[in-house]
Amino acid sequence: MTPARLGVILLGPPGAGKGSEAELIVERYGIPHISTGDMLRQQIRSGTELGRLAARFIEKGLLVPDKVVVDMVSDRLGWSDCENGFLLDGFPRSVGQAEALHASGHTVTDVILLDVGDELIVRRITSRRSCPACGRVYNVVTLPSRDGVHCDSCQDVELIVRADDGEATIRNRLREYQAMTAPLVEWYGARGLLKRVNGEGTVDEVFVRILEVISVGGSTEE
Ligand code: ADP
Repeated sequence: MTPARLGVILLGPPGAGKGSEAELIVERYGIPHISTGDMLRQQIRSGTELGRLAARFIEKGLLVPDKVVVDMVSDRLGWSDCENGFLLDGFPRSVGQAEALHASGHTVTDVILLDVGDELIVRRITSRRSCPACGRVYNVVTLPSRDGVHCDSCQDVELIVRADDGEATIRNRLREYQAMTAPLVEWYGARGLLKRVNGEGTVDEVFVRILEVISVGGSTEE
């Protein structure tokens, strides 16, 4: 039996757990994980012009301009691995981006909002560590690496606090979320696509809640 084609968007504030849940969802359904944050950080690491432009915004905790991310995502959604669906993590992040995605004709089946209280978000972000080489994310409390210092995937690479995870930058990112991204909750709610999931608890507990609401098995044939 062929599963229905999934077009998943993960929505939620920074630190809501989008990246961790995304990994489990894409593994379960065999669809590509498209994270605009990861793509932009990759551009920064490679020293491209796009990376240099994006860094100016990311360092301040501001959103990168819509046109830049929309072009990047449109290109990525054209790859052949998206034929059977996709998971977008960190995109769209503004109504402008959602309108562009809608106009591009890529079918979105599920918009999953990870609901997490402010206090927990700040706690999660400040205990987040990541690998500067491969971008893998850890948490000193809930998901430490094997020795707590180095990346499990990249030998000898020490984990770091992501440059935009400093306290002042986090505050800006949360402000940007409220101003620019939170309106998408209503936008997708009005289109009947929004699925609200309690994002508090362990990664596995939240994943079980996602599986309960995701539309696989439903008839989303095009
Ligand atoms: P988080 O979800 O923890 O905020 P991300 O890795 O998704 O982290 O994003 C990091 C930064 O990259 C954002 O603060 C923003 O500056 C930029 N960014 C990522 N995705 C987008 C997007 N869709 N539109 C604009 N800026 C983005």
